[in-house]
Amino acid sequence: MKKKGKKIIGTGNKQSLRLMRICHIASEASPVAKVGGLADVTVALSRALIRQGHEVSLILPKYAALRTEGLKNLTLRKRGNTFFFDRQIYRFDIWSACLHEVKIFFIDPVSPYALFDRPEIYGYPDDYYRFAFFSAAALRFTSEHLPLTDIIHIHDWHTSLIAPIFREYYRDLLSCSIVLTIHNLSYQGKAPADILEWSDLNPEKYFRNEALKDSAEKNKVNLLKGGIIFSDAVTNVSTKYAEEIQFRENGKGLEKIILKNKKKLFGILNGIDDEIWNPKKDPALPEPYDIFSLSKKGVVKNALRKRLHMPLTNVPLVACICRLVPQKGPRMIQKAIEATLEMGGQFIFFGSGPIPRIQESFNKLKKKLADNPNVIFIFESYNEPLAHLIYAGADMFIIPSIFEPCGLTQLIALRYGTVPIARKTGGLANTVFDPNEAPPGKANGFTFTLPTSKEVKKVLKRAFVIRKEQPELWKQLMITGMSEDLGWNRSVLHYVKIYESLYTASGEARISSSS
Ligand code: ADP
Repeated sequence: MKKKGKKIIGTGNKQSLRLMRICHIASEASPVAKVGGLADVTVALSRALIRQGHEVSLILPKYAALRTEGLKNLTLRKRGNTFFFDRQIYRFDIWSACLHEVKIFFIDPVSPYALFDRPEIYGYPDDYYRFAFFSAAALRFTSEHLPLTDIIHIHDWHTSLIAPIFREYYRDLLSCSIVLTIHNLSYQGKAPADILEWSDLNPEKYFRNEALKDSAEKNKVNLLKGGIIFSDAVTNVSTKYAEEIQFRENGKGLEKIILKNKKKLFGILNGIDDEIWNPKKDPALPEPYDIFSLSKKGVVKNALRKRLHMPLTNVPLVACICRLVPQKGPRMIQKAIEATLEMGGQFIFFGSGPIPRIQESFNKLKKKLADNPNVIFIFESYNEPLAHLIYAGADMFIIPSIFEPCGLTQLIALRYGTVPIARKTGGLANTVFDPNEAPPGKANGFTFTLPTSKEVKKVLKRAFVIRKEQPELWKQLMITGMSEDLGWNRSVLHYVKIYESLYTASGEARISSSS
């Protein structure tokens, strides 16, 4: 069987580059629907694939909370599609738009339930239902409107259900392969077993024989586990995290399944979108700068301090931007704030969290430090221009994560010459290198290993001392970070290689099954 409309270039060359049609199906895309790094990755990876010549589309739910300013030509493409889900007929509309150069489709269920007509993206009791519907409907949309798709790329638990549904119903309809990226293994989608019936998956086959059954909560379906088993390739977002999740501490109950599927598991480091994160032409900054005009970073720092009503002095300015969840080491962040102030520095914390207990402890600290003009807390879950200004204006950026699949904030900080101070775990260990360990020319920040307040204080102190007493080394750390290739150029080629191998394998399988 030969696939229609395939383009092949560079014939005669064994490593000919095939132009593929790739469809990402995900719950986030920056900036229109962003909660964390997943949003950055779906868009930046799509753009990088397009630069490689591939055709890429992205399918998302049409959240009421979409930030539509980033979208061009948002139009209702098809009203009143019908789809059978949870034993009833759902009607949904399809919208389309362009996000940069990426074609993006939105699925908008309108009846019987408008599942995405809510103020937030996540956090509702029926989240499993919402994303099960989205997964099934997005797959249906792909088969009807993008039938030549070569690769369906799904992300995290929210769209993992696509893998078993594809195996069950679409394998003969669509000749494509499924790639799953795990951005964070701690969110697995442990859903009620009813999800199988909603999605028309036979419980006998998919639950009772353990395939989708969660290993700890036996009455639940583990969506990410299903994604791992039924996808053709599984990637995660750094080589170090790919190793870590094979063991109990970071495998979070899936380590055995991961080991069993090791052959199709690949760790590929995320990049950042170097068009969007570029101090040379960032519209959010009062002055552009690069490695040849580092003094202008001081102008940005003062603009940031003025904006936040902080004293204009020459002390180090430390920043932290993150979601306040246990993964990010909230206690260590608090210690970093106190230690910075004790050592005479300034601190900006920017972010907020879904966990009331953690948010409350930060509220308390803010109250306690209310009279200190050298510390600013901004509890806002999303403000992109302010985030840019903070990344650029700070001297140091702290990321004391307990675990970190990749982490984008250290990459962004490096790009802006803001020296990262990171715990040596996951993607942080792959990207931040300490002068105590790395050769000159490779060191770009500071690292520590033990997740304790004492270690945080120690590493901050070391950074403060070097900034003051070894300004040349400090400048070198900044320049090394700013000169690194932190974009997608390298990593996108790893994805292409995986896509190509699946494309070739599925082509061969198709040919042999039809001959
Ligand atoms: P995670 O996905 O675990 O939250 P990452 O480091 O992978 O962590 O990605 C976080 C992304 O979210 C970065 O792009 C960071 O700049 C962004 N971000 C976090 N908090 C905010 C905020 N309050 N405003 C704007 N962007 C934010």
